[in-house]
Order: sequence, then structure tokens, then C-alpha cells
Amino acid sequence: MTAASEMTCVRCLGDHAVSVGRAAVHAPGPGEMRVRTVTSAICGSDLHHYRTPQTLRRERGWIRYALGHECAGGVDAVGPGVTSPAVGDRVVVFGIVGCGHCVHCRRGEPMFCADAQHFSRHRHGTNAAYLIAPARNAMPLPDDMDFSVGALLSCNVGTAYGALRKAAPSGERMLAVFGLGPVGLSCVMLGRALGAPMLGVDPSPRRRALALEHGALAALDSSDPDLNARLLDLAGGEGLAAAIDTSGQAPARAAAIDALRVHGTFVEVGVGRETTIAPTEQLIFKEVTLRGSWLYKQHEWESLLDCVRRHRIPIARLITHRFRPHDAVEAFQLANSAAAGKILFDWD
Ligand SMILES: [Zn+2]
Ligand SMILES: [Zn+2]
Repeated sequence: MTAASEMTCVRCLGDHAVSVGRAAVHAPGPGEMRVRTVTSAICGSDLHHYRTPQTLRRERGWIRYALGHECAGGVDAVGPGVTSPAVGDRVVVFGIVGCGHCVHCRRGEPMFCADAQHFSRHRHGTNAAYLIAPARNAMPLPDDMDFSVGALLSCNVGTAYGALRKAAPSGERMLAVFGLGPVGLSCVMLGRALGAPMLGVDPSPRRRALALEHGALAALDSSDPDLNARLLDLAGGEGLAAAIDTSGQAPARAAAIDALRVHGTFVEVGVGRETTIAPTEQLIFKEVTLRGSWLYKQHEWESLLDCVRRHRIPIARLITHRFRPHDAVEAFQLANSAAAGKILFDWD
């Protein structure tokens, strides 16, 4: 047991504030591992916490936990009964903790577990020097992938992969991604690698330029009044085979469905509670399929690694900024401005 008794961690206060503080380092319990964080990352869903009112975060008790759910590191200790992973193994930590026993957990889909716990809300999250999690949450990180790539795969690229698979990418299917933040850009990169012609849609010129760099055939401004006509034109007149929305914005969702062809598929991966979908015109009259997509599934991990490796997808190019944990206030301000790509913390 070499870990210090206290560690640095980043907590989210809400109302656009985070604080860098200290927390106790515990020994892993039965069935648990302790991971020494090497790299953690800021996710769009962390920004929902960041923007939540401070009073609500205090009421719910979330304020006491380290924020974050994306990280890669080395296993530093294991609790009683754990045979895998072993101390020293390089791992990514799957971002949701299930009960481990129910049908969903046994399928490697702990997000559907009735007793699921979320990092940052029910337990310490990943923006901390050490993380305790069940050993079953360890996803092996191969030696040829560095910890930064691991942190990207742990949620961001994995989420894109899960959504993209539902859009059935192929060379014959024109796909569009609405929202070109790190998850949207990952969709573009993975989709191109898998042979699909990809289009990107976003209001930010900088993000559109990144999408073109990452392989999009065209990147369109979501505020363009002729957006639908341009999408139909690029898709060959009939419309998109599938559209993925990562923005969670009601206008993007509506525009994505409007641009689908008959029997097209819409995949929603952006969290958002407002919608303006018109069921008759947008769904029935085109027999559109709606799919929701949440993270990726633990049983998809190896195929995700294979996909990135086989197609040499340069996912590290998504990283635009790296910070020390002590500069978390600045890092979160930058993430909240939506002016950056992926932002990482280096803990070593
Ligand atoms: Zn995430
Ligand atoms: Zn369960």
C-alpha cells in the first residue's frame, strides 16, 4: 500500500464553479480495484454538472464527490477476492457502476441496471489522483495505446462508436452528424474509417473546419436557412440514410430528421429534454426509425479497440488542450466556452 492517505481531486460546486481540494484515499474493498489516475478528461456531460445550480448540487449531496467519469491509469491495489485485473495493469474505467448481478450487468450493459451508480453523483469520479471502482469496470488498455487515447476511448470515442454502429455505416450510406464537439468529431472520424461518406453540421466555423480536417465531405452551418436543401443535394436528392445528433438541441434534432430519406435512421446521443418532432410528417410519412444511444456496451470494448487500431484512426488529434489538475478552474471555463476540442488532465 504505497498510496498517500490524501489525494488531490476536482469537485464541482455548480453555478459554473469547480474547486481543487483534497479527499481521503481508501483501500479497495472486496471485489474492488484502486486505479492511480494518469489521464482524465472533461466530457460534455460534466458541463451539465458545471451548469447545475449550486443549491441543487448541495441538496443532493453531489458536491462532496470528485467530478468526472473518463480516465485511464494503472491498477494500484486490488481488494479481497479480485483476481483480475492485477496490480500494475493498464486500464480504462467503464463510466457507470452497476450491481454486477442483474441481467443488464451480466450483459455488460450496467447503464440499464436499476441500482446503477454514476461517478460524480453517487461516488468519487475520475478527476482525482485515485479512483475506486469494481474490478468488473476495468477495461484493459493495450500497451500500444497510451493513457491519453485510453481516456478518450473511455467515453467520448466509445459513445461515438456506440451511436455510429446504430447508424450502420457503409460506403453506400450517406450519414450526417449534427453537433461537432469531441463526440461528433469522433463520429466523423470513425464513420469515414468505416467507409461511410460523412457530413457535419454545427454553428461554429472552427468546429466545421475540424470536421473537414477529420474527414467530413462537407461541413454545413446549422443556422443556414437552406440547410435542408443543401443536405438533400449532398445526399443525392433522396436524403440521408442516417443522422446522428450529439447536440441534444431541439432544432438540430428536427433538422436531422427532416433530412432523412424514406426508411432513414435517426440516432440521438445528445442529452436534451426539449423536442419539436412532428410525428406524422417526420416519422410516419417516411417510416423513420428513432434510436437512442447511451455510451457503449462493455462487450463492445474489444471491437472498439480493433476498429481504432485497424483503421489507424488518429483519435489523439481530438485533444486540443492539456491541463494540470490544479488549473481545473481555467480548464472548465475553457470547456464551457465550447471553443476547444477535447481537454485532458495529466496527473503524473
Ligand atoms: Zn463522458
Ligand atoms: Zn445490475
